[in-house]
Amino acid sequence: MRIDILTVVPNLLDSPFSHSILKRAQEKGLVEIHIHNLRDYTTTKHKSVDDYAFGGGAGMVMMIEPVVRCIEHLQSERTYDEIIFTSPDGELLDQPLANKYSLKKNLILLCGHYKGIDERIRQHFITKEISIGNYVLSGGELAAAVFVDAIVRLLPGVLNDETSALSDSFQDNLLAPPVYTRPAEFRDLKVPDILLSGNTPEVDKWRHEMALKRTKERRPDLLK
Ligand code: SAH
Repeated sequence: MRIDILTVVPNLLDSPFSHSILKRAQEKGLVEIHIHNLRDYTTTKHKSVDDYAFGGGAGMVMMIEPVVRCIEHLQSERTYDEIIFTSPDGELLDQPLANKYSLKKNLILLCGHYKGIDERIRQHFITKEISIGNYVLSGGELAAAVFVDAIVRLLPGVLNDETSALSDSFQDNLLAPPVYTRPAEFRDLKVPDILLSGNTPEVDKWRHEMALKRTKERRPDLLK
């Protein structure tokens, strides 16, 4: 999989992909993540990527030219499955959506900033809009990092067996059961006996029951 991220603040994306699971996924060659600074695609003297909104009002708007030049440059090199814009009015990201996008080969992710992006970009160049929740962020960079993390951890080979994504919350519409580690006793706080029994079928049964219980208590909507 290859993901190209277009941004006016590339430094915001330095850290999320440079550590832990996402770092290892890139080192193993399972995903390529490329960050593009939209300032490199301007033709104006001052390298502007934003301007005042037509009609007035507060907040700058990202200009169409750098975005389109960058998209067209990338499209001249390969075909993209989807050109995604991160936006609070997009489709809400959930596990089924992450599963779906983890099967794609080449994705472009455009991060908005300031007041938003020139509407003509959305109408004529964007093929999909995704929101990470019903709240407003300062920019799409953190949303893009969330989206990339959610899909990359699903790629075969990224997680090892013991952290398999299939046992995580929302797969099968269940929340994950509680987990424990050593010591088995901390002060008077004990780990459930069953987890120390070594009886794998019973442990699996317990985990399933706890997942069901937790889902009923916290997210009954998932069971409908
Ligand atoms: N004026 C816009 C918000 C702009 S916030 C509005 O009211 O809808 C600046 C940028 O941050 C957006 O263009 C988008 O790319 C990103 N962003 C903000 N909230 C987001 C969210 N919940 N999900 C995904 N991207 C978001």
